[in-house]
Amino acid sequence: AKHKLIAGNWKMNGGLAANEALLQALRTGLQGQDDAACAIAVAVPAPYLAQVHSLVQGTAIRLAAQDVSQHDSGAYTGETSAAMLREFGTRYVLVGHSERRQYHGESDALVAAKAQKALAAGITPIVCVGETLAEREAGQTMDVVRRQLAAVVQANGHCISEIVVAYEPVWAIGTGRTATPQQAQEVHAVLRAQLAAATGQAARVPLLYGGSMNAANAAELLAQADIDGGLVGGASLKAQDFLQIIAAAC
Ligand code: 13P
Repeated sequence: AKHKLIAGNWKMNGGLAANEALLQALRTGLQGQDDAACAIAVAVPAPYLAQVHSLVQGTAIRLAAQDVSQHDSGAYTGETSAAMLREFGTRYVLVGHSERRQYHGESDALVAAKAQKALAAGITPIVCVGETLAEREAGQTMDVVRRQLAAVVQANGHCISEIVVAYEPVWAIGTGRTATPQQAQEVHAVLRAQLAAATGQAARVPLLYGGSMNAANAAELLAQADIDGGLVGGASLKAQDFLQIIAAAC
């Protein structure tokens, strides 16, 4: 199988006991799995980074965070720096998730600055892009995702081959309404072309699909030419569902 990345985004869910049970179930389910076949990550709430860092030791599961500050340190109450994430072995960090853009007013420029801080700390940013339902219905999907990605490309120059991009149509997040494989592939192809132009085709930036991905629809989505993995919300909280998605990818 082609090398895929399956990342779970726990969002603001979990607890010490629940995290331990979930990771134990994943660990058991992944036994015998060929680690080289795909990469697996879980993006956890910041207070659980230390716990999950220790629970994933010796497993194929990599640690991810859900957000990072655009600042290095200082008087920024409530924020978490890339260096802090790094101290807990964080390998990936989501930037520009639509919930941050929507509920916390994150702009394209801010998302680009966050990606820059992650890269500088040696953490791979998973840059999330995606259109709202209104934007899709107005025929603006490609303009929106191109604009969102362009900000990150401009700010990150030659490092751009080190990022991961997740296409998450906002209307598909947590709604049970998945983009069709064709709809997702169409957007991924546009993002692929934009990244190829930016990197001079030097590297293949992994492009993940996110939005109501589940055990039943993962295989068909992941079979698309430009879908290199998934960013999984709700289904990543259930060990069996997440394991089935991983099995579909690896
Ligand atoms: P759901 O899989 O719950 O739709 O969430 C997708 C998502 O936002 C992952 O970042």
